[in-house]
Amino acid sequence: MAHIIDGKKIAELTRADIAARVAAFKEENGFAPGLAVVIVGENPASKVYVRNKKKASEEAGMYSVVCEMPESTTQAELMEKLAELKSDERIHGILVQLPLPGHLDEGEVLRFIPPEKDVDAFHAENTGHIMIGDYQFLPCTPAGVMTMLRHENIDVAGKNCVVVGRSNIVGKPMAMLLLHANGTVTICHSRTKNLAEVTREADILVVAIGKAKFVTGDMIKPGAVVIDVGMNRDENGKLCGDVDFESAEPVAGAITPVPGGVGPMTITTLLENTLRAAILAVSNK
Ligand code: NDP
Repeated sequence: MAHIIDGKKIAELTRADIAARVAAFKEENGFAPGLAVVIVGENPASKVYVRNKKKASEEAGMYSVVCEMPESTTQAELMEKLAELKSDERIHGILVQLPLPGHLDEGEVLRFIPPEKDVDAFHAENTGHIMIGDYQFLPCTPAGVMTMLRHENIDVAGKNCVVVGRSNIVGKPMAMLLLHANGTVTICHSRTKNLAEVTREADILVVAIGKAKFVTGDMIKPGAVVIDVGMNRDENGKLCGDVDFESAEPVAGAITPVPGGVGPMTITTLLENTLRAAILAVSNK
């Protein structure tokens, strides 16, 4: 039986630490770190994520603003809102909830958010810093996974790490962070041949593909650490990961559940990044 990595618990502990640091920041500077989340349209999953981000940032003692814009928002209107937030001194972190409605240019939006307020770490400048290993902000989900591994005393150095998925948001930065931690890293994607042969070599397997229960127990090396980033609905509408927990759990050495695994860690990194952005803003004055 695998050890279940309790992301909810690790997130609680980490958030308590962040809240204490936010309180100290407020005491010292007389204002709170501020986070603005912009959401365009009515995507139900996005609305839940945004609500959770607001709640978590308020619980950490931060100043939190949600800008809800209608589906019909034009690019010019969105850019105007972002310009407002960019010059707002109370706001240290700006996050635009993705995906945006199809008529909006995501690239322009991500380029416009100043790197020092880019708490999602999606701006090319921040992505470049991650590549070099000299960064202020880390992308929320991969950094959340690294926090989890550290918390569980899982040493990455010298391990065979396989990341399935190569998105800019999860897969690629995840691979980079594992590499910085001295893992031997392989990235797989939809064109990888004999995927199961590769995943069976992994001491640490991170799966981020967006396909419900895709990775099964026979694709996992006995005793491996399995990190399931996926968030999907199964045939009964129940939340599930990219890993088939039922067949994977008896084979793995440690595994993250869905829900209660990686998800809570993502928001935790967002809080960490917002606090860091506020500290940077103060030190750059
Ligand atoms: P994307 O759709 O952007 O990327 C999916 C990646 O998976 C692509 O690189 C794709 O390959 C690869 N892939 C798809 N099918 C296969 C396959 N059959 N075999 C191997 N690789 C495959 O997804 P994201 O990275 O944004 O998200 C992945 C999952 O993680 C989703 O379920 C998402 O909801 C979840 N997620 C969860 C978060 C959390 O906080 N827990 C945060 C962010 C995402 P190719 O490039 O060749 O197309």
